[in-house]
Amino acid sequence: MKPQVVILGGGFAGLAAASQLGDRYAVTLVDRGADFEYLPNLHELVSRSKKPRSLRLDRGRLVERHGHTFRQSEVVAIDPELRQVRTGDGGILPYDALVVATGSAVSSHGVPGVAEHALALRSIAEGVEIGTRLKQLADDGGTRSVIVVGGGFTGVECLGEILRRYRQRRGLDVRLIEPGPRLLARQPRVVHRELRAVSEECDVELLFGESVAGLEPGRLHLASGSWLRTDLTLWTAGGAPSPLLAAAGLAAPKEWAPVRRGLQSRAHDDVFIAGDSAELRHRVSKQSYQATAMGRRAGKNVARLLAGRELKKYSPPDEQLLITFGYLTGFYVDDDVVLEGAALCLARELLFQIGMAELDRPHRAGARRRLLKRLGDAARLGALPAPLLSLMPQPFARTPRDRFDLPSLPRVLKWRGAGSALEAAGASAATSGRVGQVAGEQAPGVLRVLGPKLLK
Ligand SMILES: Cc1cc2nc3c(=O)[nH]c(=O)nc-3n(C[C@H](O)[C@H](O)[C@H](O)COP(=O)(O)OP(=O)(O)OC[C@H]3O[C@@H](n4cnc5c(N)ncnc54)[C@H](O)[C@@H]3O)c2cc1C
Repeated sequence: MKPQVVILGGGFAGLAAASQLGDRYAVTLVDRGADFEYLPNLHELVSRSKKPRSLRLDRGRLVERHGHTFRQSEVVAIDPELRQVRTGDGGILPYDALVVATGSAVSSHGVPGVAEHALALRSIAEGVEIGTRLKQLADDGGTRSVIVVGGGFTGVECLGEILRRYRQRRGLDVRLIEPGPRLLARQPRVVHRELRAVSEECDVELLFGESVAGLEPGRLHLASGSWLRTDLTLWTAGGAPSPLLAAAGLAAPKEWAPVRRGLQSRAHDDVFIAGDSAELRHRVSKQSYQATAMGRRAGKNVARLLAGRELKKYSPPDEQLLITFGYLTGFYVDDDVVLEGAALCLARELLFQIGMAELDRPHRAGARRRLLKRLGDAARLGALPAPLLSLMPQPFARTPRDRFDLPSLPRVLKWRGAGSALEAAGASAATSGRVGQVAGEQAPGVLRVLGPKLLK
């Protein structure tokens, strides 16, 4: 009989783990949702610049492509002693090796009223609801108040998308509340300074050092004592681990699950943790490319464990970030190199298109059709930055509304601690080499994915 492998969660990490396991194993992937949702671009639903169909893929198809079984069900318990998983539909799945990749959930941080009176952005359904509510508020003619809670990646990207669509609607008062002193606290300060300048130019009120004490219908209570009127509150104040981890003894209550160097749980040898759920000894950011890399390593290590071979260590990829601010501007952050400009948003769109095509390879007619729809939706709904549209010939050209609609070249905001022209030149050569290396790594994947389409 084949060894049984169960994978919990079919997001970036779970699917990547499944892709590494061949038909020598009986693999079952369990997820509560029928569709894989591409979370890193969810914020574009806020401005309705992406269609839901562009962000989802049939999960069963992605899993069955590798010869594995997909089970759509809620996981309700993991029993590492009995080596089995229980699902909400009464199923019991025994395993020889388990991969836990349940991602993260919304955390209210114990603030009352969040679930009832705020919207979070963790799924396509929530993104669509936010996009619809914003449009209603913008169209209804009165003065409406929109509050984004949280100045991390999701809060900043949501704010950018609100401004992308509605920055010239006078009826929307937009605020962002962040308990810390700046936006994107873990990124270089210049990113915060630039984001603050753009936000203030668009009349956004940024409240730093303020936290939310509670939410009631139509109003929000700040810990400092005042109340703010709100017609729509977006809650982006961080994620929390699935309670399954602590209940199974894989993590302390409300903590991520600590792992060893090969992503094996510290508590059980036959359990691997990948993606957002895992707590590495050296912390990495909870990002999709980390989740994918962890999933691949966990999948490979499951095979090694079952073959009695030594596990390999997980080496996290270098942290490079592309942050978009609603096509008003974007940032590329690589340690202490920061580039800024709306043109960088195009790179982000390219990464999205490649990411989706990597998951749903266009070598079959169905996948090719879906790729073409995604590209068509992108062109129609505004994946092209407004500056590019203003350069298009009639009838495609759009009249620029403000400076953000005018073409501009990316600029360098920060270039290591270069003290002299010579140092800057040296750093510049090193970074060009790095960018070239990344492009070289991506090129075969791009050609593999788009090649069949281009050659057709
Ligand atoms: C709005 C937003 C914007 C983001 N932007 C970026 C970005 O720009 N760049 C970037 O790299 N990353 C970004 N991220 C982070 C990135 O999406 C995550 O790091 C990544 O999705 C983690 O992958 P994962 O596989 O660990 O978890 P997930 O992708 O969250 O997948 C977990 C899966 O487990 C399933 N699951 C959980 N519990 C259960 C259960 N009990 N029973 C059954 N199924 C269950 C869920 O349904 C889900 O499908 C963003 C995330 C969000 C929400």
